[in-house]
Amino acid sequence: MTIPSDIRIAQEATLLPISDIANGLEIETIEPYGDNKAKLPLSLLENQKKQGKIILVTAINPTPAGEGKSTLTVGLGQALNKIGEQAIVALREPSLGPTMGVKGGACGGGYSQVVPMEDINLHFTGDLHAITTAHNALAAIIDNHIHQGNDLQLDSRKVQWKRVLDMNDRALRDIVIGLGGPINGSPRESGFDITVASEIMAVLCLASDLKDLRHRLSEIVVGYNTDSEPVTVSDLKVEGALALLLKDALKPNLVQTLENTPAIIHGGPFANIAHGCNSVIATKMAAGLSDYVVTEAGFGADLGAEKFLNIKTRALGIDPSLVVIVATVRALKMHGGVAKDALKTENVEALNQGIANLEKHVETVRSFGLPAVVAINKFTHDTDAEIQAIFDWAQANDVAVELADVWANGGEGGRDLANRVIREIGEHPATFTRLYTPEQTIREKITTIAKTVYGATGVEFSPVAKKQLKELRPDWELFDVCMAKTQYSLSDDPKELGRPKDFTISVRELRVSAGAKFIVVLTGNVMTMPGLPKEPAALKMDIDQEGKVIGLF
Ligand code: ADP
Repeated sequence: MTIPSDIRIAQEATLLPISDIANGLEIETIEPYGDNKAKLPLSLLENQKKQGKIILVTAINPTPAGEGKSTLTVGLGQALNKIGEQAIVALREPSLGPTMGVKGGACGGGYSQVVPMEDINLHFTGDLHAITTAHNALAAIIDNHIHQGNDLQLDSRKVQWKRVLDMNDRALRDIVIGLGGPINGSPRESGFDITVASEIMAVLCLASDLKDLRHRLSEIVVGYNTDSEPVTVSDLKVEGALALLLKDALKPNLVQTLENTPAIIHGGPFANIAHGCNSVIATKMAAGLSDYVVTEAGFGADLGAEKFLNIKTRALGIDPSLVVIVATVRALKMHGGVAKDALKTENVEALNQGIANLEKHVETVRSFGLPAVVAINKFTHDTDAEIQAIFDWAQANDVAVELADVWANGGEGGRDLANRVIREIGEHPATFTRLYTPEQTIREKITTIAKTVYGATGVEFSPVAKKQLKELRPDWELFDVCMAKTQYSLSDDPKELGRPKDFTISVRELRVSAGAKFIVVLTGNVMTMPGLPKEPAALKMDIDQEGKVIGLF
């Protein structure tokens, strides 16, 4: 059976009016954006009727193509409704950079997608534009402050706040601004990051309400003065203006899946220099509206799930009930040493080797006191022998595993997984604990993650990082840590696949995200403004005379 392209499936779907989806959740007031999208009022956070259980979807260390977390998240949500449970899907918003570039959209795939995918993948309800504007308004305020006399004595060499754009544009990574003489301000070096790397995105996703958003915005450090003291947004007195620019972006967006399961899509921070999860407000709202919330976190379990569990749940105030770890036969074979161009050929031996990567992630999830279910995302070229090998390993090691065929069959293909998830939640109640407490030092927090989650023997700090650790303000020591590490390996070397042993993690530099309340820990080179590939996905996109979207995957 040939499965049509994602866009073809999406365009043939029968969508319900968004008011019907809202009615099904007993939501009285929505702010419609056209027929199939709506903003949800923040008042839904008050007097919540339900306390839905949170199911987090994560993955093993992925191949560059992605292993299908979004697809599985949507598919599991649909499957739960199919077996008679009530579930909402809570996802991140796509960024236009990867959409135009290489990755494809972030709406799931096959028969497990959120729709209208053309809108969600493009401008949606404008949240990313609002975040871009708020970020750049602050950049303009900073340069204007320096131009107008610089009362705060900002050291122009130590301004950390760059500009952002929701596009992959490598030419803007490093720029000089303020050229053209005194009338244009003071020349200084700066650059652009992609919008999803903005601290404002992280802040919006961690804020519990408008007041908390305003407070977090006020705490953002934009740079340092000539005495090396931090200068914040509150020093510049613009937290009110920034909150105002974000007033609608703070409201979650309601859409639906191909099978009319409600989906709340809101926020999408990077999973390296930020925490990689959808917003706290959206997740909390979803939990108040349904019995189960299926949500995802970026990259593999060593990054996205670790941050969801250590960072997001602290702001969320709800403990998760279970973690689904997505694995694919192709990625397991890659972890077993198979080259990228040979992943479609059966190789049970390599797969058995590569399972070590999955095994580590199962251990990690359990170390948080949470039950784990492995979902094998079925691809057409997987062989019976390969799938059986995963089941054999699972049985021998007492791991819950199910095959999920939600890409080809929608919710129907996820029945086994949905039943298993419900059963595991019932039989293995979570005893959730974070890996570190706020009172531990930043150094201890980093070391705990490196040892427990990555399996490292220890951490080496560069001289710069050591100096930064010493200079942290005492209140910053209470922050969480947000690790920026390659997504491809458990170590900080993307080439070390499988389950690397006897390695240390090298910390190059720390960055303070005081609004998000975490310290970003940079290991290796982290790209905050990606580039486009030689053949960007944009080359295949078009729109016909009738306005029909073409080539959006
Ligand atoms: P992730 O969220 O892990 O990055 P996605 O769910 O976005 O991954 O999937 C990445 C791509 O792979 C999408 O284009 C999706 O359509 C495709 N995909 C996912 N699962 C399957 C599958 N089982 N068979 C074929 N293609 C798939």
